[in-house]
Amino acid sequence: MKYTSTRGKAETLDFKGVTLTGLARDGGLYVPETIPVFTEEDIKGMHGQSYADVAYTVIKPFVGDCVSDTDLKSMLTETYGSSFRHAAVAPLIQMGDNDWLLELFQGPTLAFKDFALQLLGRFFDYFTAGSGEKITILGATSGDTGSAAIEACRGRENVRIFMLHPKGRVSDVQRRQMTTINEDNVTNIAIEGTFDDCQALVKACFNDLEFRDTVNLTAVNSINWARVMAQIVYYFTSAVSLGAPDRLVSFSVPTGNFGDIFAGYIAKQMGLPIDKLVIATNSNDILARTLETGSYTQNGVNVTLSPSMDIQISSNFERLVFDLVGRSGNDVSDYMKELQKTGGFSLTEEQLEVLRSLFDARKVDDVETLQTIRDVYTQNSYILDPHTAIGLRAAQECLKDTAVPRITLATAHPTKFGNACMDAINVSPDLPPHMSDLFDRKEHYIALENDMDLLQRLINVA
Ligand SMILES: *Cc1c(COP(=O)(O)O)cnc(C)c1O
Repeated sequence: MKYTSTRGKAETLDFKGVTLTGLARDGGLYVPETIPVFTEEDIKGMHGQSYADVAYTVIKPFVGDCVSDTDLKSMLTETYGSSFRHAAVAPLIQMGDNDWLLELFQGPTLAFKDFALQLLGRFFDYFTAGSGEKITILGATSGDTGSAAIEACRGRENVRIFMLHPKGRVSDVQRRQMTTINEDNVTNIAIEGTFDDCQALVKACFNDLEFRDTVNLTAVNSINWARVMAQIVYYFTSAVSLGAPDRLVSFSVPTGNFGDIFAGYIAKQMGLPIDKLVIATNSNDILARTLETGSYTQNGVNVTLSPSMDIQISSNFERLVFDLVGRSGNDVSDYMKELQKTGGFSLTEEQLEVLRSLFDARKVDDVETLQTIRDVYTQNSYILDPHTAIGLRAAQECLKDTAVPRITLATAHPTKFGNACMDAINVSPDLPPHMSDLFDRKEHYIALENDMDLLQRLINVA
């Protein structure tokens, strides 16, 4: 399998290349040149299989010859066998008539990001083993990515990870999940600034090609194709357990950077009978506005109860735009130049029509989020995290055909966002046993000014 950049100017790479590169050198995102398609028989064959077995079937065509069959199988068995607390890995919970939650928070850091990052960490090891090469991971986090990436890379021999967070601006649980990890290859950096400042520093380091090559810089954010790929799997396992391929299903996905729901779009292209994909957003609603007006325009960031979705633009949307413009790198580049220059771009009528045929969107504000947590707690005695509450609310509003099972992706454990739960129902969900001493553990981090030279020097000498 070969991968091409959405902006058409970077070299074509294989799976190993895109995994170790992250962002393409022309600023674009890597996408597969062709999408593998499964027959109904193939999908029927997934009935009764373990999560790791389905993962093997789904992932194998994307990985190609870069990993041997035996190694890929054992990597997947390890990832989805030992790191997740629930035997089903991604269990479905029934909330009502044909109304389901897909719990994606049974991994080590309690958010769906573990699904991809636990696997990505193993790919990093596999691709650097015996090469004498070390890679440097640099990322910025406002929440769940940081802890999931650190947990996935800790102790790995040829990997160093540097994770920036805005000082004083992430929740205590989220910060402690990162900073209480004491490993030589992990450096947490608290930047004096906002999340946007952190992201700008990371971007600047990636755009400094000399620095990028010197330290072998690699990305772990959702622009890394391997992350999207790993997330395709649970669309298959959940749809198959509810009757696919003989039955349609719909999904509602709490959305920020558009990585998770883009995986659902790929699953549909691979032959999974998905009726609707609902983009559920908080008041950072650039995608919902785009579906309404055809104009993709950034508006500044609102701080909400669902911080992992507090984004100004959705970086993975570029992958979809690439398809909407007929896979023309030049057209994508034009749109992205306009975005940078004017803060937005407009889709054509035709492109908008295709977008609307694939997706539905709904914005859910903080008041509705709290109301949904309250309603579900009263009716089901189940505590939703605020991101999942947004997904469920959007599902209720957009998916009215009760003959089609609707699956809401439950993206985080409520304990990560205890404040919202306290606000909604006056209950603070307990930390799970493996984290119960989180607040007694020692923290390790370096505080740094918002300055690229200082950051590069720190990475160089570490
Ligand atoms: C990252 C995250 C999201 C958003 O996912 P995207 O792939 O960025 O759209 C939603 N909910 C939670 C809990 C997250 O951590």
